[in-house]
Amino acid sequence: MKFVIIGNGVAGTEAAIALRHRESDAQITIISEESDHFFSRTALMYILSGQLSHRDTEPYERDLYARMNFVRVRARALGVDTKGHQVRLAGGLDPVPYDRLLIACGSRPRPAPWPGSDQAGVGHFVTHQDLTWLERELHGGVSKAGPAPQADAHLAYSSPDSPYRVRPVAAELRGRLARTGAVIGGGLIGIEVVETMLAAGISPHFLIRERWFWPVAINQDESTWMAQRMREHGVHVHLQREVERFVVQDGAITAVRTVDGEDLPADVAVVTIGVLPNTDWLAESEIQRQQRGGAIVVGPDLRTSDPDVFAAGDCAAVEWFNGMRRPEQLWYTGRDQGRVAARSIMGDDVRYKRSHWYNSAKLMDIEYTTAGLVDFGFDDMWSWFLEETGTVRSTTRIVCRGQRVVGFNMLGRRWDHRVLIRWIAERRSLSWVLDRLQQAAFDTEFVPRLRIPDEKRRQATQPA
Ligand SMILES: Cc1cc2nc3c(=O)[nH]c(=O)nc-3n(C[C@H](O)[C@H](O)[C@H](O)COP(=O)(O)OP(=O)(O)OC[C@H]3O[C@@H](n4cnc5c(N)ncnc54)[C@H](O)[C@@H]3O)c2cc1C
Repeated sequence: MKFVIIGNGVAGTEAAIALRHRESDAQITIISEESDHFFSRTALMYILSGQLSHRDTEPYERDLYARMNFVRVRARALGVDTKGHQVRLAGGLDPVPYDRLLIACGSRPRPAPWPGSDQAGVGHFVTHQDLTWLERELHGGVSKAGPAPQADAHLAYSSPDSPYRVRPVAAELRGRLARTGAVIGGGLIGIEVVETMLAAGISPHFLIRERWFWPVAINQDESTWMAQRMREHGVHVHLQREVERFVVQDGAITAVRTVDGEDLPADVAVVTIGVLPNTDWLAESEIQRQQRGGAIVVGPDLRTSDPDVFAAGDCAAVEWFNGMRRPEQLWYTGRDQGRVAARSIMGDDVRYKRSHWYNSAKLMDIEYTTAGLVDFGFDDMWSWFLEETGTVRSTTRIVCRGQRVVGFNMLGRRWDHRVLIRWIAERRSLSWVLDRLQQAAFDTEFVPRLRIPDEKRRQATQPA
């Protein structure tokens, strides 16, 4: 058997390992344009802010390929010939034949639509090459975390529209590092970039088109609270402000011009307006993709429209609990899908079904934990909200349908999502959960307990 996997992210790598555990003789080839080694994309910001080295962010030893007898092909795939069972490669390389193919090609940044976006100083923060670019703009290429494992991670034949291409560096044109910066787009990646700019001594402009920051994850109360914390750190938060263009001088940007005509000084601008399935390269291939967004359509067994081709991770449109089909774009769902895809490829009768949603992150110095449904707008959904203003500053939002708790959105304290998820699965009531909330606390022993005032406890029934 010849198994070929496109992508050495979490979905592709976990699939390869699962295949090897059962198929010791199979030929397993992994094609990756971005990097030689699997790394944790979620940890990119910690490299940039100097908290982790490149090596720290690689979940496996660098001898993984040798130990597992994986064939590494560092190249850009240009398409899949489903009839001839082969993957076409850029750069005149020989096509790679397969019996079964897994596509795990991840996400690419949503491109910036404004004039000047192609000039030096404008970029994204999704790929390893984005990291290298931003390291050069902010730190002159010398990462506080040590040298990058594959220099520029640049392939000479990488196409100009590839998310893994190398970008021009404004700091090199200008002859000095960036002193001012802007982050455009208010989501998780946006706030991570804000943090890396703060760590580099820049107080960035943070432009958000919506009425509040990160609307897919937090509500207006939580966002107002977060914006206040960001301003305390020196971030210039601009809500409901849109970009008109980048102001450019001698090939490098100098400012972001807003539609209301203000020029916000920016030697570097990072555009974080979302990600899209990274599937443009499949345009000529006979593999069904969604019309909107381009995610690869898969069945519950993660098989695509072609019986020998499977897809997993950020690029795959899987079925959600409410029947909707779209990608999940999370680290742990990518890992789970990779493992399920491997079993499906080997012929097991297996279905991918995600359990309860959860995620956690650290937004500057603010802990964030979410579990279950917090933003799905069912008619009978309501929220219980508590803002804590003492030595610890936090917000606690517990979302219910009727009397049953269905979700948690927590900022400022650490919570054990496993306990929260168990309570959701056990269909606990709000008053039951409030009585035991401390059991899910994950703060260190020195952090004072969350106190729930009596009048807040009395609000534990659904408002009329
Ligand atoms: C900055 C940042 C922070 C994040 N933080 C979190 C978080 O806190 N929690 C969370 O759950 N998720 C987070 N995510 C999302 C998470 O990282 C992704 O969901 C996950 O990494 C996707 O894994 P994947 O294996 O599907 O794809 P990827 O990791 O994107 O891997 C794609 C692979 O495909 C290869 N590839 C693509 N196209 C081609 C081609 N044409 N030819 C050859 N190779 C190709 C690339 O080389 C790469 O190896 C974050 C993402 C980013 C960018």
